[in-house]
Amino acid sequence: MLEIGLTGGIGSGKTRVADMFAARGAALIDTDLIAHEITAPGGPAIAPLVAAFGPGCLRQDGAMDRDAMRALVFSDPSAKTRLEGITHPLIRQVTEARATAIREAGHNPYLIYVVPLLVESSTWRARVGRVLVVDCQEETQIARVMARNGFTRDQVLAIMRRQATRAERMAVADDLIDNDGPPEALNAQVAKLDALYRSLSDTSGNTSENAAHP
Ligand code: ADP
Repeated sequence: MLEIGLTGGIGSGKTRVADMFAARGAALIDTDLIAHEITAPGGPAIAPLVAAFGPGCLRQDGAMDRDAMRALVFSDPSAKTRLEGITHPLIRQVTEARATAIREAGHNPYLIYVVPLLVESSTWRARVGRVLVVDCQEETQIARVMARNGFTRDQVLAIMRRQATRAERMAVADDLIDNDGPPEALNAQVAKLDALYRSLSDTSGNTSENAAHP
């Protein structure tokens, strides 16, 4: 099965685009959702987080306090390393388990992983057959995230500064979706890539030897 890593800056439209592929039959694994799941109340990251950072890293409801942790890792790079040392292996475990289940079920023509920091990661690129980048102008990103999250312009810019640049993402993209236009402009782009991924998936199980000696 062809496995694709979908990435893009914050607010570029990754979630929207991924949902459009899912509507066409793609299997989806959203690593951002998994990151939220493992840090939800009772999630597998909670006990090790409390052991590392104390009970102050939790909200009243028992979920990780994302605002508190964001502030902490901003001011203390070693805290970022410790936080990621807890969360990344758990995210990877859940991701792998879901991918295995999807491959074994064999219901989907291809699998898309949504990975916000794929370009920034040292390991993700090697784990996927293709990289799909959702791209838009930085001003479009800023406007969308301000509207979606109620952040100030400076808050959005601070997040964007910690992410790869558009040029860095373009440099690793096999495929690109331009999401500067209205949502309707996505349909044709998604349809074209869906057809490509289906055709690549049809042949991805065949080695050249198999193809030569059917
Ligand atoms: P990401 O997952 O990359 O952070 P989202 O898919 O959540 O981005 O999109 C960010 C916000 O912008 C969402 O509120 C989404 O509904 C909106 N959005 C995405 N694409 C478009 C578009 N082409 N036109 C208008 N709004 C869009």
